[in-house]
Amino acid sequence: MTTATVTNIHAGADVRPEDYEFVGLISPIMTKTDEGVAEIKKFSALVRLTAPYYSASKCGHCGANVKYRVVLRHAPTGQHIVVGDTCADNFGLSNDEFRSMKLEAAQTRKEGKTAKAWREYKEQNADLDWDYAEEAQEFGSHIIRDLLVKGRHYGSLTEKQFEFLKKLVLEAADVKVRAEENEAKRALAADAPSGVTTVVGTILSKKYVDGFYGSTHKMLVEATEGYKVWITCPTKLEETEVGSKIQFTCELEVSKDDAKFAFGKRPSKVAILEEVK
Ligand SMILES: [Zn+2]
Repeated sequence: MTTATVTNIHAGADVRPEDYEFVGLISPIMTKTDEGVAEIKKFSALVRLTAPYYSASKCGHCGANVKYRVVLRHAPTGQHIVVGDTCADNFGLSNDEFRSMKLEAAQTRKEGKTAKAWREYKEQNADLDWDYAEEAQEFGSHIIRDLLVKGRHYGSLTEKQFEFLKKLVLEAADVKVRAEENEAKRALAADAPSGVTTVVGTILSKKYVDGFYGSTHKMLVEATEGYKVWITCPTKLEETEVGSKIQFTCELEVSKDDAKFAFGKRPSKVAILEEVK
């Protein structure tokens, strides 16, 4: 078998840019439209007919497979060749179309590289459930999103950023579980009664509220049945800590917005059943 050696007249440092005319561009995006596909076919045919030793998918200058291509006509021979966007620099091209294609090509290469790096980084750091981290953006700290954006942008995170992300995702998971528990608890809670009622329950919180007659000490109590009562803290409970179990009788008025919430008035027969110190 003999191999014909063909000297590539379009290779090497000796190519004379002035011998080449710009014919057109081929970029991957063109395959998405019928017009684009027709254009690519037209260019391929030109190469096939005028320069049969060359391929429309390989750079006529260096032989590499190329995605972003410039179609050139070599004036002295009438040959049409394609060159990759990088090699095209050797042909003295400077039109705007070509420049914008170069930008697009560079961007695609960079994104491709970063996406790959990020995928590998995530595989190497499998002690974080990355899918869950993506979900946690919805209910966790907004910094989770910031860190994931950074990772996608740079292809990796620093060790500090990664440790912080793990911590935030764990916290987010906790918050979610607690919210679900509260939701379940709420669903089970009985509606608050109205009228004179003896409430047995736990103090959830206490606070001073400023009103017309000065500051009042209020407390939020969760009754054992699950409904909640907002009421002035009786003197006897002034010093009683949150979490203590108490009992009192009062008049309840159910909230218009929430059947499981009542406003209490005139507490009496106050007793501390279990005190938290
Ligand atoms: Zn090339």
